[in-house]
Amino acid sequence: MPFTFYNTLGRTLQTFEPLCAGTVGFYGCGPTVYNFAHIGNLRAYVTHDILVRALRRAAYEVNHVMNITDVGHLSDDADDGDDKMVKSAAERGKSVLEIADYYTQAFFNDTDRMNITRPSTVCRATEHIADMIALIQRIEQNGYTYFTGGNLYFDISKFPSYGELALLRLDDLKAGARTAVDENKRNPQDFVLWFTKSKFENQALVWDSPWGRGYPGWHIECSAMSIKYLGEQFDIHAGGIDHIPIHHTNEIAQSEAATGTKPWVRYWLHNEFLVMDKGKMSKSAGGFLTLQKLIDEGYDPLDYRYFLLGGHYRSQLQFSWESLTGAKNARKSMLDKLHLLADKVSGSGIKNLNTEKAEKTPSVTSVVDYSSFTPAFNKALEDDLNTPRALAELWGLLKDTSIEPQAALTAALDMDRVLGLGLEASLQTEQPACDEGLSHEIEAFIAERAAAKGEKDFAKADKIRQDLKERGIALEDGPGGTTWRRI
Ligand code: AMP
Ligand code: ZN
Repeated sequence: MPFTFYNTLGRTLQTFEPLCAGTVGFYGCGPTVYNFAHIGNLRAYVTHDILVRALRRAAYEVNHVMNITDVGHLSDDADDGDDKMVKSAAERGKSVLEIADYYTQAFFNDTDRMNITRPSTVCRATEHIADMIALIQRIEQNGYTYFTGGNLYFDISKFPSYGELALLRLDDLKAGARTAVDENKRNPQDFVLWFTKSKFENQALVWDSPWGRGYPGWHIECSAMSIKYLGEQFDIHAGGIDHIPIHHTNEIAQSEAATGTKPWVRYWLHNEFLVMDKGKMSKSAGGFLTLQKLIDEGYDPLDYRYFLLGGHYRSQLQFSWESLTGAKNARKSMLDKLHLLADKVSGSGIKNLNTEKAEKTPSVTSVVDYSSFTPAFNKALEDDLNTPRALAELWGLLKDTSIEPQAALTAALDMDRVLGLGLEASLQTEQPACDEGLSHEIEAFIAERAAAKGEKDFAKADKIRQDLKERGIALEDGPGGTTWRRI
């Protein structure tokens, strides 16, 4: 079955057909490295990771390119406000490049801990200034620019399909425009391709260009680097929904103006936001949570990954410590189940798995035929990367005692090639002994109920509680998660 993705360009579910059979060119907007990533940002990168893993498991060769923004991103996407990198460097008494290096490393430290596969190519904006200048020259030669007040602007009135991605209507925009922030702009949505008149004294990073010494606008880096590494037309581009109206809209205008190839990108995927207390998580508003903070509170980075997979990437996801605890408990139950299966397979207990890994841990190339357990899982992923359903399929497999253990274990590890919950690695470490008398079965029900609540399937969650009650087991929800006791 082919994949179906919701394409923001056109706002429909579309069957995925790559430009070249069997290969996928994918560009995901990377971080602006002036601070730590917050856990909302990490939702975007887990989404990219699931996409890449699902395509690779389906035998596509994926070329995944990601940029690192280390120059030119102002605090307002529309060329207004402070330069994020310069401001951060000044506040911390460091150079811009020191800040960029520090937070780039911190970013990959976070993504590694969350089992997010590193992109095939990571490209820094500051190392691609020549590519940006060359692309801007093409845009200029094609007649889409004007130079005024020391800056080179993109003239959106020359690009009739401007705003197609975001369903922006230019007439409405003009009518409703607030006073243009930059009086040099002919249209409020025009944007800077190259700055020479910095608003900031001592702009740290500047380069010579045909328009004078200066630095690039933010949007041009993604056009220049994606075209460099993926070609003038490629398959998929992704980012958070905040990028639709300005950043991605401007990327399309620049790229298509330069190359004349339309559409520049065939499928646009956007993840919804992680929100806290009904507000968006942002670095400026309060509630800025990092992965390290979750770790300090006693959570494993993979607990957070499990939590994210419980929501579909196109739905807003509400963060709370309680739901993170639910995910933590569910993941623990999953690992318990997996170890029990491994126990049955090895017949000699999980303690031996460390030393006898080669024989005891089945590999995904095992001769055991597990293929009949994966179609529903595959279908969930093919259906616009439906991770909550994929997770439920994995649970169904782990709980189905009628399946031969070796086949179940092999299938579970195969599914985890996409989910990335570290199941295979966990088999190589000894599980802490379970509390005396604690039933794995009840833990699995608690996990299933937490997942049902996460999906807002309260009827199912209530039924699980009721079923257990009838068996003499009471579930109690507390701040530390759900516990059980005999009635
Ligand atoms: P930035 O480092 O600010 O450029 O953002 C990195 C990525 O995180 C972008 O794809 C954003 O769209 C995305 N993003 C920002 N905030 C959130 C959030 N609260 N939830 C999900 N994604 C986000
Ligand atoms: Zn971008």
